[in-house]
Amino acid sequence: MNFVYAANHNEIYEYMVYGTNKIESQIRSKIFSFKPRFSYCPKCYITDFKSFGEAYWRISHQIPSIFICPIHQIPLEEINTPYYELELNTKINIDVHNIPRMPLSKKTLFHAKTFTRQSFYLNKINLKLYEKVKSNKFYLLFIERGFVKPSGKIDVTKLQSEIEKFYGIEFLEIAKFNKEIYKAMEQDPLSWRYNMAPVEFLILINFFFNSLSSFIMYSYKIPTGENGPFPCLNYFCDLFNVNTITFTSIYLKEETTKRLSINFKCNKCNFVYEKVFRISDWCLLEIRRDKSEEWISNVLSLINNNHLNIESVSKKLNINILEIEEMIFMNKLDYSNKLLRDYKNSIEWAKRDKQVLLYFKNLVSKAIGQGKVEVYHWICHSIYKINLESELSFLTRTEQYVEKHRTFYNRLKDHKRKNSKYI
Ligand SMILES: [Zn+2]
Ligand SMILES: [Zn+2]
Repeated sequence: MNFVYAANHNEIYEYMVYGTNKIESQIRSKIFSFKPRFSYCPKCYITDFKSFGEAYWRISHQIPSIFICPIHQIPLEEINTPYYELELNTKINIDVHNIPRMPLSKKTLFHAKTFTRQSFYLNKINLKLYEKVKSNKFYLLFIERGFVKPSGKIDVTKLQSEIEKFYGIEFLEIAKFNKEIYKAMEQDPLSWRYNMAPVEFLILINFFFNSLSSFIMYSYKIPTGENGPFPCLNYFCDLFNVNTITFTSIYLKEETTKRLSINFKCNKCNFVYEKVFRISDWCLLEIRRDKSEEWISNVLSLINNNHLNIESVSKKLNINILEIEEMIFMNKLDYSNKLLRDYKNSIEWAKRDKQVLLYFKNLVSKAIGQGKVEVYHWICHSIYKINLESELSFLTRTEQYVEKHRTFYNRLKDHKRKNSKYI
């Protein structure tokens, strides 16, 4: 520091401790590795003294994810150094270095060297690791590698024990890996990242991937095994079925329903759809399309202006016929009666039964997804809304399904009545 103007000391200090300020760096220190100390290598210190008669700080020793001297490959020492006392010479009692230290294990040295190499590389090249390590996307990785419990929580006990097995305790200690991160992950599986420091990033990345580049190349898989970019599902968008959606947002509905919802939004048309998974076995329950007014009017104009029948629209758009009927009824279109009459005249009841049943099953799963118990009301409302009453006697399986829910609902009501007597 002797060759730096006193006025610049503060900046150099900020850079060395936080990795910030005017001297830009890709590696930033976050609160978990808040480091009000400077590191130095005892051997470099002695060599400096022999060569120059005084010792110098080295910026490479201050990078938060470097724990050994890149030249001597021995652990760095640390001292508290406020910015107004930057002279290394005045701070160190040289006798301290005569205390013998156990040499590092081969395993520790191996990982420490990897971290040193990666840190230099990251400091030179902007790989935007912070952008890549998003907690919600990492959650998908945890699912893929079996680190999520049936409750939807991250299995931090398993994660911790496997990370310790992989690196060894010695390494995690010299890296000062902060175990608080496990608590953060447990409390908030989708946003623990904000508390991460470069060390924790590199520890997670090297645990899950063979190299930085395999991490950079990795694209997160959703539980169906697909990975992005994902297609736009809006038939009326220029990018329909084109894989362009890279951004996904993820929501956990763990308290009431134990479901995971992944949302996809098209950049071009803003159409949103959602894939809903059951957490216990990651089964895909349904794909929900966000039905905006614009989209509905597009669907209806397909029938109205292009004179397509309901069935072909259903096939084209890959949505249930009943959903289209629902739109027609809701919008009270004057041609609807004729349209539906034509369609229903040619109806095959077995096929119709299947479609209606699927429609109700989706409805029920949606109601349950929202934590509603009285799903039978939903079914009744739908029967009324799309005028299904007269058809039900032809739809055997659907009728059984509705009946099952009616029985369940009545039992629920009885149960409530009985219990309320005693209150
Ligand atoms: Zn050294
Ligand atoms: Zn689109």
